[in-house]
This record gives sequence, structure tokens and C-alpha cells, in this order.
Amino acid sequence: MMHFFVVLVFITTTLFGLSNNEILNRANIYIKTDTKSNQFRAYNDFKNLYLRSIIHDDERLKKSALKGIIHSGKKLHIDVIQYEKEYASLTKRSSYQKPKLITKKVFKKAKQIKITSSHKLKNISWYNDKLILKFDKKLRKNQINYFTLYNQKKKSYKYVFDIHASMLSKSQMLRREGIKRIKIAQYRLNTLRLVIENNKKVKIRFNRNMNKLTIEMTIQSKKKRSKRIYTHITKDKKKIIVIDAGHGGKDPGAIGYKRYREKVVVLKIAQYLKKILKYRGYKVYMTRDSDKFIKLSNRTALANKKSANLFISIHANAVPKRNAKKAYGVECYFLSPSRSGRAEKVAEQENTADISEMNKYSKHSLFKFLNHAKTIASHKLAIDLQRGMLGSLNAHYKGVNDGGVREGPFWVLVGAQMPAVLVEVGFITNPKEAKMLVNNSYRKRMAMGLADGVERYFENN
Ligand SMILES: [Zn+2]
Repeated sequence: MMHFFVVLVFITTTLFGLSNNEILNRANIYIKTDTKSNQFRAYNDFKNLYLRSIIHDDERLKKSALKGIIHSGKKLHIDVIQYEKEYASLTKRSSYQKPKLITKKVFKKAKQIKITSSHKLKNISWYNDKLILKFDKKLRKNQINYFTLYNQKKKSYKYVFDIHASMLSKSQMLRREGIKRIKIAQYRLNTLRLVIENNKKVKIRFNRNMNKLTIEMTIQSKKKRSKRIYTHITKDKKKIIVIDAGHGGKDPGAIGYKRYREKVVVLKIAQYLKKILKYRGYKVYMTRDSDKFIKLSNRTALANKKSANLFISIHANAVPKRNAKKAYGVECYFLSPSRSGRAEKVAEQENTADISEMNKYSKHSLFKFLNHAKTIASHKLAIDLQRGMLGSLNAHYKGVNDGGVREGPFWVLVGAQMPAVLVEVGFITNPKEAKMLVNNSYRKRMAMGLADGVERYFENN
């Protein structure tokens, strides 16, 4: 199905911070033009509006959306009979019907994450071989990101604490018998980094209590490999992550400033991310590791087959040329769900109506994805990834825009049996951002931020 890619590309553009009225106006302009691509634009705008109308229980919007879907769909020879039926049933219903009360908002608006740190490190001390970091305020759980690194060549183990806080003094080296190096420094503007480095494994335990972070270090000897350590290892099985570089092969994705192609940009970032996550001890699979075309359904299918813990699809955003300078920034999306049976039905229809591939997903597997817990997990992951990207990029670049965490009907996420997020790494159509997106240092920072987000997610969930 050729229009299949077109659909995805346009979906990534249509939701960019526009109000229902703005989308409606735009769609009504598209629909009046004769080109097929504009008809597609209109069709997708109307479909998004339709979904929004269900989410927000807006009957008037639903009518306009359905009308648009039917009109543009027919021009495109898409089967719109389901929509026609629904439109007919809506208009048949008389106007004296009581308006339905909206009792519960289905969605919480995604929180905009702003990176500001109000915590300050006050004091560092040792107590019975425990390192105690004292802050001026109570620490939150998600303020601490702990991860380990192992360098095989140097045979060096690193235990890293990234703490969302700042310190007043310069970096400090701390001493502890049997450990090679302990260093604490302001790593980024809002991140303190404590690194414990050793040539032998160190067992690290830490505990957060009010404004104190206590870190216990036990040097392990190989001889005394207790049962407990063994079970700890088996329990903490390697986490599996599937990274999906969007598009590929005959499908270039969005084409932006200076004709940069989305498929190239996202592959490079995905490859950096794979490298970093592997280095940090994760098991990583890529849906594609070269310029290859892959069907959407095969992308999540791989994640399911590998029993991945996370699925991360990487894309770049685009807008029409006239808006190119205005639209920029990073965004994370998770699949929009609903607990109401009505919206589930719509989602099912949305994902099967004009994409024959989606028929492969049985009703059952789609519903399985649209469960509340997984949606919350995806939302959390999206927040962590967004925060990670912003944290990493803001530390090195000016003017990075936080586009926020959003919900959206992305087909590529449908069917994933694990928390799944679609990352928009920026607008390839924006001259400034496009220049950054083809810069390797910027791509690395972006990937590092995403990896930080993954780690933060596992730390807290
Ligand atoms: Zn894309």
C-alpha cells in the first residue's frame, strides 16, 4: 500500500500543537485542492480530529470530522462506509437529546517537563564505610539515576549516580580503602555525578531517606560468591530494548531542509543509542541497522518476538515549508488509549480501515495493547525519554525546545506488547534544527539523553 507511508509521515506532522479549529481550518483548505497529497493531508487531519472528538466527547467536532473523512476518503477511493454509517446515525439523532455529561476526563494532559534543580548538596561525609550525601531538601525518587558501566579493555567497573541537584563547591575526590577512585562533580547544569570506579566489582547499595542519600560499598571477592549474589543476577536479567529507526529503503520519511532525509537522520541516532545502551549493559535489537525498508507491523513484531522490555521508535518531524521556521523541538509520543469501549472500537477501526497490514493485528492483540497499565507505563517512559533528551541537549546546546509529551494515534506503536514510545528528535524542516540533526556530536548527545531516560525509567519502575 503506497499511501501507507504517506499516512505515517503526515500523522507525525498533523498533531504539532494545533488546536482543533486550526486543524479543521487547515483540513478544509486541503480538501478544496485537487492534488492527491493534499487530499491525504485532509483525510488524516479529519481522522485525527475524529479521534480527538471521541477522546473529548465532542459531538460537533465528530460530525465535522466524519464529514471530512467521508468527503476526502471517497476522493481517495478509501472505503469509508463505517464512517458514513456513523455519520448517518449521528445526524438522525434529534437535537433535543440531552447533551451528554462529561464525567471523567479520559486523559490527563501530559506534563511539560521543565529542567530546573532546586536541590543543593550541603555536605559529604563517611559513616561506618557508608558515604552520606546530605542535601538541603528532601530527595525525590526520580531525582536519582543510578547505572553501571563496565569497560572490558581497562577492566574497570564504574558505578554512577546522577543526581538532579547542584553543588556549591568544585569537584571532589573522595577516598575509601580498596576502591580506586571516587569522584563527585557537577556533571551538567542540573546534574551532580558521583562515580565510584574500581578494578574489581563493588556491591553498591543505596538508600534515600529524606534529604540524605546513603551509599554503601562492599568490595566483592570472587571466592565468596554467595547464593544471594547469584539469585540477584538471575533476577536482574538483562533488560531488552528494541530500537526502531523510522522509515528506510524506498520510504525516505520526511524530507526537510536541504533535502535532508528523515530515514538517514534517525538511523544514525538509533545506532548511537544502541551503542550506548549496549555499553551500559542492555540487550539491544534494531528493527533495521541499514537503509532497508521494513513494514510497520514487522517492527513491533520483532519487539514482541524478542520479548523486549521497551520499544522505542525514532522519527523526525516535519511541517509544510511556510511553517518551517516556526516549528522546532523534541517531542515524545505514546499511543493514545481510552478506557471506554467506544474509543477502543474507533482505534481498532482507525488502524484497520485503510491499512491492510493492520488487519494482521487481531482485535485481541490490539485490545491487549490498549490496556491501562501499559498506557501508563508508556506515558512514564515518554516522560523519562523526553526529560533525558532535554537534560542532555540543554547542557550543551542553546535553544533546544521542549515540545512536550503527547498522545497520538501512531500505528507503529500499535501491537507492541511492552511500553512503547515514538520519539520525534526534532523538525527536519527547521533550518536551525536540521543543521543540528545532521551533526554527529548533537546526535550523540541526543542518544545519550535517550539512554539516560531508559535508565531512569528502569530505575523507577
Ligand atoms: Zn517518521
